[in-house]
Amino acid sequence: MNTPLPQSNGLRIRFWGVRGSCPAPGPETVRHGGNTSCVTVELPNDVVLVLDAGTGMRKLGHELVASGRTDNIHLLLSHTHWDHILGLPFFVPLYLPQGRILLHPLPNKAQERFRRQPALFDPIHFPVPAADVPARIERVEHDSEPWCIGGATVQPIPLNHPGGAQGFRIEHRGRSLCYLTDNELNPPGPVTTTVEQLAAFARHCDVLIHDTQYVHADRAHKVGWGHSFLQDVLELAKQARPKHLVLYHHDPDRSDDALDDVQRQAQAWLDEHAPGIVVSVASEGLTLDLPRTDEG
Ligand SMILES: [Zn+2]
Ligand SMILES: [Zn+2]
Repeated sequence: MNTPLPQSNGLRIRFWGVRGSCPAPGPETVRHGGNTSCVTVELPNDVVLVLDAGTGMRKLGHELVASGRTDNIHLLLSHTHWDHILGLPFFVPLYLPQGRILLHPLPNKAQERFRRQPALFDPIHFPVPAADVPARIERVEHDSEPWCIGGATVQPIPLNHPGGAQGFRIEHRGRSLCYLTDNELNPPGPVTTTVEQLAAFARHCDVLIHDTQYVHADRAHKVGWGHSFLQDVLELAKQARPKHLVLYHHDPDRSDDALDDVQRQAQAWLDEHAPGIVVSVASEGLTLDLPRTDEG
């Protein structure tokens, strides 16, 4: 990741952290990576949308400083569980006077407290008080949906997760991606958003990134934990028909070899039941370029 990538004229999606729950570094996870959730969507005008602030955000900060893009960083959090925010205190642009981070709304009132006073920066958690952070942190409000951010449209959707979470559909110049993490398809209790609603939301997007923390062997213990099982994600993809499905928010105990098995199983199932959909297992460093397809 040291050589700068050539400029994209469309959307560039990059994965900086792909784990759920807690970081999982070590020899068994070195290929797919051990950092927690963080994905960027880069627009050609140097606007950067950061989806979640897990520990993958630390390395992203260095990249943004190196490329001089520290003043137009839009932070969109799915929710405020630790694995989605713990990279924030270690994000270098926060400590630069020219740093500017725009914090977009959170899914519910309880989580909105985080936008006003992130507990991460209180003295029992971190040595630097929020008031001493030199960067500008702006809390963005939106009067209507979809949100307009840097020329892209961003539609949020509530997800099925303890305490609430939100996903996003991002569209720009004829390209689209959906980021749906910390979502249990077919939860045992009350359903916030049904599979059919999510399939309609994600219909025909270029890239669908979805929480796939669990596999069939986890069914006995993990139903109701707020994350999805591989088979349910594949059924969603069959309905939504994205071009590319990216399995994301891996269980911290899932080894690289086990993730390779997940990828093979998933591709074989899709080839039989929904041919034409490419599936990947998210890895740190994975980059997907979506060149613009509109006119002009
Ligand atoms: Zn999570
Ligand atoms: Zn969560």
